Amino acid sequence: MATSDLTRCVLTPRVATEGFDPVGIGVHRASTILFEDAAAYAERGERGEKGYSYGLYGTPTTRTLEEKLTQLEQAARTFLAPSGQAANALAAMAFLNKGDHLLLADTVYPPMRDFALSDLVRMGITIEFFDPTDLADLQARIRRETRLVWCESPGSTTMELMDIPEAAALAHKAGALLGVDNTWATPLNLKPLALGADIVTEALTKYVSGHSDVLMGAISVRDADLAQPVKEMIGRMGIGASPDDASLVLRGFETLATRLRHCSAVAHRFAERLSGDPVIGRVLFPGLPTMPGHEIFKRDFLGSSGVFSVTFPETVAPHVWPALDHLRLFAIGASWGGTRSLAAPMSIGGNRSATRWQEPDVILRLSIGLEDEDELWEDLQRMLSALARLSAAGDAAE
Ligand SMILES: *Cc1c(COP(=O)(O)O)cnc(C)c1O
Repeated sequence: MATSDLTRCVLTPRVATEGFDPVGIGVHRASTILFEDAAAYAERGERGEKGYSYGLYGTPTTRTLEEKLTQLEQAARTFLAPSGQAANALAAMAFLNKGDHLLLADTVYPPMRDFALSDLVRMGITIEFFDPTDLADLQARIRRETRLVWCESPGSTTMELMDIPEAAALAHKAGALLGVDNTWATPLNLKPLALGADIVTEALTKYVSGHSDVLMGAISVRDADLAQPVKEMIGRMGIGASPDDASLVLRGFETLATRLRHCSAVAHRFAERLSGDPVIGRVLFPGLPTMPGHEIFKRDFLGSSGVFSVTFPETVAPHVWPALDHLRLFAIGASWGGTRSLAAPMSIGGNRSATRWQEPDVILRLSIGLEDEDELWEDLQRMLSALARLSAAGDAAE
């Protein structure tokens, strides 16, 4: 048998695994999967969804993550994608054909809007937007060609809540599917499939991985019929997820519930304390009774996360960007859901079609992390005092 070092370099020695029973699954990397014999190779296509045939189609590590998501989403099946945006784009593309009509909630994640308007349009799909807070608007826009309704609740940055069961009923009546980007709530706090949705996506990049160091997304579907088009299309496109990254997401997953519980409690207290501050306009946190759609939140959500936004009065808005430089603990950054608290000044820009944003176009999005609550509040106060000073000086100058 093999005695040459060249050969030894290639073969993997088998070590005993009996008695080695770690808490988490190891990182199983592979492109090639080996087969017992020629017959097993010939039959590899019949190994079924739990079998292994090629690294791109899953390893024990990626399958473990998929299975965990399938259970939490109450789904039939989950597929990993290299990012949350990839999950959104692939989920929509798998179900749309030339001539189909796609309805997007006006408040969806902006890159999804961009993807629809740039690429789906190019493929002959008609795009229209609807107001997620007024489902009569959705109903009026649904047509015979409508194949998919895509939404996010709460909406990106501006946090509009949508009645998912009602939207699902409207979509299904017209023979369309409902897809929900569930990144804000995570599979712990909202179960879109149980509420009637057909497809749910998650940017695992955010809370599930939880440490701001990995990009990954997931597509989960309600039944096996919906799984088939996704599986086939991502196979043809060569989309897979790295087992190393999946392992990082699995590690983050273990602390997800505890992190969320902490972040949402602090976010809720901050949202309450910020309400009524003279330099703040509205506080957009679904858990506040003053939030439009709060009754939907109470009915459908099992909890909240730690991301929320605030708007500003006209006289204050021009001073928000300079005031942010007074933050010392909150970092300025976009991809939320990690351990570090983040502040990001956002603008709607041209990202509205079916609705109009009526307030100044600077919205501050805060992601509450795991730092000491009092120190975080002090930091926010430092920024708000600067904002008050700058606004007063601005007024005096006019
Ligand atoms: C961040 C985000 C995404 C995209 O996730 P990436 O992994 O960064 O591509 C999708 N949807 C929502 C709602 C997000 O916040």
